[in-house]
Amino acid sequence: MSKKDFKVFKSSAGFGLKTMRDWKKGDLVVEYTGKKITNKAADEKPNRYLFDLDEKWTIDGSPRSNLARYINHSCKPNCEPVHYTDTNEIGIEAIRTIKAGEELTYDYGKDHFEEYIKPYGCKCGHHSEK
Ligand SMILES: [Zn+2]
Repeated sequence: MSKKDFKVFKSSAGFGLKTMRDWKKGDLVVEYTGKKITNKAADEKPNRYLFDLDEKWTIDGSPRSNLARYINHSCKPNCEPVHYTDTNEIGIEAIRTIKAGEELTYDYGKDHFEEYIKPYGCKCGHHSEK
């Protein structure tokens, strides 16, 4: 993975992340990097870029070097987060072929959706009823 493979851009949700190269289904696209902090510390210092690992640890993904923090939620995503339990790290993997120029997205999960997205309306572009 190289930083040149990605481009941060302004989107309807603030920022988004585009890929500048193609990916195959199952490829590790980008890692969700950051300092591991305890869930307790995460509760005391909440920010938008926390990734729950397990019952004890959370990744604080707020550093700008963590490109994965720019990936938006989608209800029809092209990536998914995978928890590598041996290293306790998160990789964002392609769940289908992704072409250069596409925005990268993953499903943030039900809890996050209900709490942070639904009240404002989801902007992922897959809600034709709006
Ligand atoms: Zn949506």
